[in-house]
Amino acid sequence: MKVVKTISELRDSRRGLKEPVGFVPTMGFLHEGHLSLVRRSREECQSTVVSIFVNPTQFGPQEDLTRYPRDLPRDLAMLEKEGTDLVFVPEAGEIYPRGFQTYVQAEELTKRLEGALRPGHFRGVATVVTILLNIVQPQRAYCGQKDAQQSLVIKRMVQDLNLPLEIVACPTVREEDGLAMSSRNVYLNPQERKAASALSRGLFVAEKAFQDGERDGEQLRNIVRQTLKEEPLARIDYISCADLETLQELQRIERGALLSLAVFIGKTRLIDNVLLGVDSL
Ligand code: AMP
Repeated sequence: MKVVKTISELRDSRRGLKEPVGFVPTMGFLHEGHLSLVRRSREECQSTVVSIFVNPTQFGPQEDLTRYPRDLPRDLAMLEKEGTDLVFVPEAGEIYPRGFQTYVQAEELTKRLEGALRPGHFRGVATVVTILLNIVQPQRAYCGQKDAQQSLVIKRMVQDLNLPLEIVACPTVREEDGLAMSSRNVYLNPQERKAASALSRGLFVAEKAFQDGERDGEQLRNIVRQTLKEEPLARIDYISCADLETLQELQRIERGALLSLAVFIGKTRLIDNVLLGVDSL
């Protein structure tokens, strides 16, 4: 496994890789969710490239950029074990050199849900992913359904800009109690960690109601809300039952829907979702 820090080293090493090349962009502090993307790439591609970059432009001024968890030696050991071919670990100045001023902005899709509450977040995501895709030039890139809106934004951007690759969205990997794996779960103290299972519990109760025939968007949102109200440490940021293409709130589910939420457990903001009526994004 080769580890490189500069764009020119990455380009040199990339030339020697067998194609198709699969790419997994991450912010590091890896867990089984990230590794599931690496494994999928290993299954479907001849070579696998992973980037580890805590992207400053996707964090708001009040967010956790400086305290975002990092453990590069551990990440590299995990990636080596999975058979990763090439790891790109750039410094911020390599991606955003002095004078940088060009950003990628998806419009309507980023006005709702996470985009509504985290202004500029998806502009940072779309920009860094575009830069990384241009550097790595993979045939496929792997992302997680866990960050559903992010995956939809990336898919839309790839389609709109005619970028020559396929985006593959992979299922959410969960802890035993249902909590979606996330690098941010380390912020939770033991009591909060227990309380955090309320997110998936709420989503699963509503998913069951959908399977039993409930098609009313507000009812489904209410079911999630009621379950979360039973957990005193949980403070709801939003609960959404939205159209999979536009992310507009649905009154009635005709085909598929994205049931998603953001919830504060103590000071930590967690997100999760389930798909209703479809298998993947
Ligand atoms: P991050 O390091 O949080 O930026 O995540 C990098 C990629 O891993 C993104 O495409 C995420 O959606 C994906 N990912 C994060 N957590 C999970 C999970 N629990 N299951 C599947 N994919 C995940």
